[in-house]
Amino acid sequence: MIECTNCETAQFLQITKSRVFFEGGDLIHELSERYECTLCGGTGSYTYREADDRASLSGEVEMTEERPRFA
Ligand SMILES: [Zn+2]
Repeated sequence: MIECTNCETAQFLQITKSRVFFEGGDLIHELSERYECTLCGGTGSYTYREADDRASLSGEVEMTEERPRFA
């Protein structure tokens, strides 16, 4: 889950831009999302690269480990 570092909640985050790069048909090569917090006006971005299986965040967003618990 991605949260605003200023407000410490994901409640006001909106995705303002989302891009997925494909390679060889349906293989996702890279995912890029840009976020804006409608409460404090903070912005940040999230990028995931499949090649090295790493996600990176920049700006005023952070990743939390919280996940919904469904069986
Ligand atoms: Zn905020």
